[in-house]
Amino acid sequence: MTISSEIQKIEESLNQLRGKEYISESTIDFFQDILKAQCAAKNKFKENSISISLADSEISEKLRQGIPLICWEDIPPNETLLADLFLQLCNILKNHQDSETEEIQKIIDSQTDGNLNIGDLIRKLSQQDSDYFHTVCNELGLNKEVVVFLTLSAAKPFFEAIAPGLRDRVADDKWLKNYCPMCGSSAQLSTLDKKSGQRYLYCTLCSSHWRYMRLKCSFCGDEQAGGQKFLAEEQGPYRIDLCEKCKRYIKTLDERKLVDSKEIIPSIEDLATMYLDMLAEKEGYERSWFLPPSVEDVHQADKNTTLH
Ligand SMILES: [Zn+2]
Ligand SMILES: [Zn+2]
Repeated sequence: MTISSEIQKIEESLNQLRGKEYISESTIDFFQDILKAQCAAKNKFKENSISISLADSEISEKLRQGIPLICWEDIPPNETLLADLFLQLCNILKNHQDSETEEIQKIIDSQTDGNLNIGDLIRKLSQQDSDYFHTVCNELGLNKEVVVFLTLSAAKPFFEAIAPGLRDRVADDKWLKNYCPMCGSSAQLSTLDKKSGQRYLYCTLCSSHWRYMRLKCSFCGDEQAGGQKFLAEEQGPYRIDLCEKCKRYIKTLDERKLVDSKEIIPSIEDLATMYLDMLAEKEGYERSWFLPPSVEDVHQADKNTTLH
């Protein structure tokens, strides 16, 4: 897909959300700017025919040990592109969030002064080093949530550019974990396949998808005897899978209920179903965290890996 057709698709999908009562025009405009900047960065990065080379034996070993295939250090560095994107994202945030203009300017200044380095931030985020974010934001007087959002948004196009090249190397029934086989992030969205009804999870960061058990919580790995509890839309293809153990939820698109099949853009699906987040939160459930699960969570999730 060319960059212009990709951007056109983003615009068309977002335009379908305009006028809906659960999402404001300004939120749509904000995400449109973010998604377009990410799309342009991804394509610029791809123009250099980037890929990471992993031998078949390395891939099998990583997958066997449950280690995701891509880590930030393996991605070919492109510091100019990364710094440009970071600045662009800061400016988008500044233009759309009137109340936070000064806070964003402080982040821009810290990057310009060399006190904040986006490459380091992404590395620390992928190492789940939340202490680093806490310390650096305290020292520089920055808003931590905003810095994490910017870091995640800047990292996304680089992981998205690399992941598709490795997709065929991960057999559907060989991973089955609650974190992404490509980058290790947790799932943002789940789908039930149109033909087979099999469940797939979609990654928050690199947008890859992978197969997962139907009746298992995609966060804590709990598998309830009666199956996962869910809230289904009366009409429409979505439902919310709820976990009684960790009280988290994930939105699931049942593709069998779609009239036409469509290509999933996880970030846009997520926005388009904001009303389901409100519903789940009202019922007392929380969204997942972005970061990959802890080692204990992984062990817990691995205790029962029957496919359903
Ligand atoms: Zn991923
Ligand atoms: Zn759970």
